[in-house]
Amino acid sequence: NKRIRILDVPVDMVNTGEAMDIFRELMKSPECSLIVTPNSEIIVNASQDPELKGIIEKADLIIPDGIGLVYASKIMGMPLRERVTGIDFLEQILRYLEETGQSIFFLGSKPGEGNSPSIAEAAAQKMKEKYPGLQIAGTHHGYFREPEESEIVERINGSGADFLCVALGSPKQEKFVFRHQEMLNVKGAIGVGGSLDVWAG
Ligand code: UDP
Repeated sequence: NKRIRILDVPVDMVNTGEAMDIFRELMKSPECSLIVTPNSEIIVNASQDPELKGIIEKADLIIPDGIGLVYASKIMGMPLRERVTGIDFLEQILRYLEETGQSIFFLGSKPGEGNSPSIAEAAAQKMKEKYPGLQIAGTHHGYFREPEESEIVERINGSGADFLCVALGSPKQEKFVFRHQEMLNVKGAIGVGGSLDVWAG
């Protein structure tokens, strides 16, 4: 087993290729798999937040995001062979979805103002240019209250999306997916932090 513990928080000791192999397997089953990409800061937070730690424990794939974890694992004598960044892994996922004709939903980041699109819409536009075959099933901004959540889940399900990107920051995004995991009809969901902002440019 490639799952190790850093500050007693589990992390999968995988490189990008191995992570994608696991991801492809997860996408074969209809239940919503949870993928998390904790960086050093999230690992520290999780070690102090039992709810977040419990969610990470139940995640199907735990990609250590960033170089800090590579060092930490070396100190523990179980080297992570390579630095996998969340955003690199995400782009691999987009490429996989494009190749297999599957669709994605972007949830999170700031809404649009006036005529300007939301960050999620702008990110969708940019990724559509980069991966022309990628199907974006829908987008929704990330500034909503808890009573609106079931409506958002229905919107995601109604879009027919195969996969869900949630950009609400940590631990909001992990808690959102975990809370609705049973109701979500996507095959997988991942917390992506500020990635939609990066893609939107
Ligand atoms: N965000 C959101 N809803 C919220 C709080 C944050 O959609 O209630 C978005 C925010 O606009 C940003 C993303 O979550 O695009 C990541 O936020 P932040 O940079 O605070 O988190 P981090 O990347 O440090 O996890």
